Amino acid sequence: MSISISNITKTYGTQKALDDVSFSVGSGEVVGFLGPNGAGKSTMMKIITCFLPPNAGKATVCGFDTATDSLKVRRNVGYLPEHNPLYLDLYVKEYLDFVAGLHGLKDRTARVRTMIEKVGLGPEQHKRIGALSKGYRQRVGLAQAMIHDPQVLILDEPTSGLDPNQLVEVRALIKEIGKERTVLLSTHIMQEVEAICDRVIIIDHGKVVADDKASTLRSGAQQREGLEVEFDRDVHANLLLNIPGVLQAQRKQGHAWILAHDAARDVRPAVFQFAVENGLQVLGLQKIERGLEEVFKELTRSGN
Ligand code: ADP
Ligand code: MG
Repeated sequence: MSISISNITKTYGTQKALDDVSFSVGSGEVVGFLGPNGAGKSTMMKIITCFLPPNAGKATVCGFDTATDSLKVRRNVGYLPEHNPLYLDLYVKEYLDFVAGLHGLKDRTARVRTMIEKVGLGPEQHKRIGALSKGYRQRVGLAQAMIHDPQVLILDEPTSGLDPNQLVEVRALIKEIGKERTVLLSTHIMQEVEAICDRVIIIDHGKVVADDKASTLRSGAQQREGLEVEFDRDVHANLLLNIPGVLQAQRKQGHAWILAHDAARDVRPAVFQFAVENGLQVLGLQKIERGLEEVFKELTRSGN
């Protein structure tokens, strides 16, 4: 296991940020750590990277305990903190050389050159960090996180605040990086997880509410499909439940309904049949795609 978290609890004063959290991340996995703002993602990442001690529980990285072997943990972990703190007055190369120095690396110049190449900073390498766009600053952050060639990367909302083009580029870069390392990446963007990650851990109010393959979560969501139907006049919910295959009927607004149904059958013909039998006209009929986004909303609804 690259990362192993057992029963971690963290409180800030009276506020519980993490409540008995356990999970593990295998070597080479790219895992999305997903949750609404305030769920506890950054706190967990600070514990894994030895920036904060937990109140209870144990975290190990590559077999080293964060509490007793923090130097070894930090040698094996690269961390891109939330909001990517950088020295804006330093030049790109100067900054990376500085970080390489902090890690006590030999042959720093060559290492800095390799990293610049790896994250695609070539054209911007002679600039001051303060003069870079947000997308290029994120690349500097990633280079900084990987300069000591750690096995594990912890990336805290690495794409937040990027424009759509930068977003695609940085995601592609992370995906590339993820081929040869273990990555735990936090985000509150569903598409990001779908684009980059093998597995998803969803956290809400300091508790893990889901931990599964992205594809499993998605197909779970799809077992109960939805249909949106609008009739020309009102109809009683109980009548709708008589339609074969319909499991649930919820009024959306006016005469429009959301019908949850068994994904194994197409209930649309039955809905038309129902309308004919009851002298109703169908004004609209539309399938509702249920993806990871829906799973996320369902699992984290308590907080919103
Ligand atoms: P996320 O990264 O998922 O948005 P955080 O880990 O930053 O969540 O925060 C979890 C909870 O802990 C939030 O309610 C937040 O307000 C609180 N919190 C985080 N850092 C501190 C701190 N230094 N002092 C007090 N409360 C904090
Ligand atoms: Mg955060």
